[in-house]
Amino acid sequence: MSLLSAVEMAPRDPILGLNEQFAADTNPAKVNLGVGVYYDDEGKLPLLKCVRAAEQQMMEAPKARGYLPIDGIAAYDKAVQGLVFGADSAVVTGGRVATVQAIGGTGGLKIGADFLKRLSPDAQVLISDPSWENHRALFTNAGFNVGTYPYYDAENKGINFAGMIATLRAAAPGTVVVLHACCHNPTGYDITPEQWAQVIDAVKSQGLVAFLDMAYQGFGNGIAEDGAVIQQFVDAGLDFFVSTSFSKSFSLYGERVGALSVLCASKEEATRVLSQLKIVIRTNYSNPPTHGAQVVATVLNTPELRAMWEEELAGMRVRIKQMRVALVEKLAAAGVDLDLSFITRQQGMFSYSGLTKPQMERLRSEFGVYGVDSGRICVAALNSRNIEYVAASIKKVL
Ligand code: PMP
Repeated sequence: MSLLSAVEMAPRDPILGLNEQFAADTNPAKVNLGVGVYYDDEGKLPLLKCVRAAEQQMMEAPKARGYLPIDGIAAYDKAVQGLVFGADSAVVTGGRVATVQAIGGTGGLKIGADFLKRLSPDAQVLISDPSWENHRALFTNAGFNVGTYPYYDAENKGINFAGMIATLRAAAPGTVVVLHACCHNPTGYDITPEQWAQVIDAVKSQGLVAFLDMAYQGFGNGIAEDGAVIQQFVDAGLDFFVSTSFSKSFSLYGERVGALSVLCASKEEATRVLSQLKIVIRTNYSNPPTHGAQVVATVLNTPELRAMWEEELAGMRVRIKQMRVALVEKLAAAGVDLDLSFITRQQGMFSYSGLTKPQMERLRSEFGVYGVDSGRICVAALNSRNIEYVAASIKKVL
């Protein structure tokens, strides 16, 4: 028997499987709300003007593509620190942050996971229940035992904060807690600054390791507003991890632009941490790619382009909020007499709609409206042309 003949077929990725099903659906009215991607009101994936302008600049002064340093483009890493911690913040100017360019937000999480596993091999990892699908798989593959803390409260359409905080307060010292910095995926519910203060208190008193996943900075209430949670952690005097993704905020999904930042106790500690992060990168893929990070660095470090980006990002954020309001209105107009105001309290791309698996299945098979079985729909894929149809379809399966 050959080695490979024993390989078992892996299960299909549930969301990619939905996309395949969607592509094969011949219903002309079909709508794909299963994806985690922002589409504009025309139903198209945007190419941001600031990205085009940066690429234009790059084309006008073309550069040879040598290897980047292991930790990526220095100007990019600096720009990430500025965005996450504030360019003039004491932790950045004091050299306490170790930042590396990563292959998307996923790459940032993976580098952090591998680094933590070497440092703390017996630690448990806690993720929210539910969480982004890949959190569990990624930390499990890095060798961790992954558990959950309560998060979604289906009955009250919100967050089971009492459950969450009780679990954190009971966690063993050294437990790694993965927290969604903003725009929780998949539920859309974010905790308040007061609740963050309690989480921080639990992290501090239990000696937990906070790993903030920031994949949607700017999609909730604004760049600074969404980043405020980082300042709360800094002010508490904690050391922590932050993964950054620009996939959504720059609509650069395929360029794989992200980062990992680790806030350390001192500059000297940050230097040691950086040296270890570089080993993780070196032994995985040697060094990161050039294009996407150069685009993002150019935009963030050029005042006019940065202003353009902030405006375009605000445009995406506002359109999503409009779609939330419109969905509630259209559902009411379609005759749904449930309190659906929770949809407008949620943040970011997703809404946990409260629809059941059989209802989601009927939406797909009878109406060509594709969401995830959990009831998660992508609000960022709604637009002025498909929203009425989606609302009417939901009314019919309720
Ligand atoms: N974390 C969360 C919560 C996400 O939703 C995503 C993207 N869906 C990521 C991380 C990964 O981002 P990227 O595509 O940049 O790897």
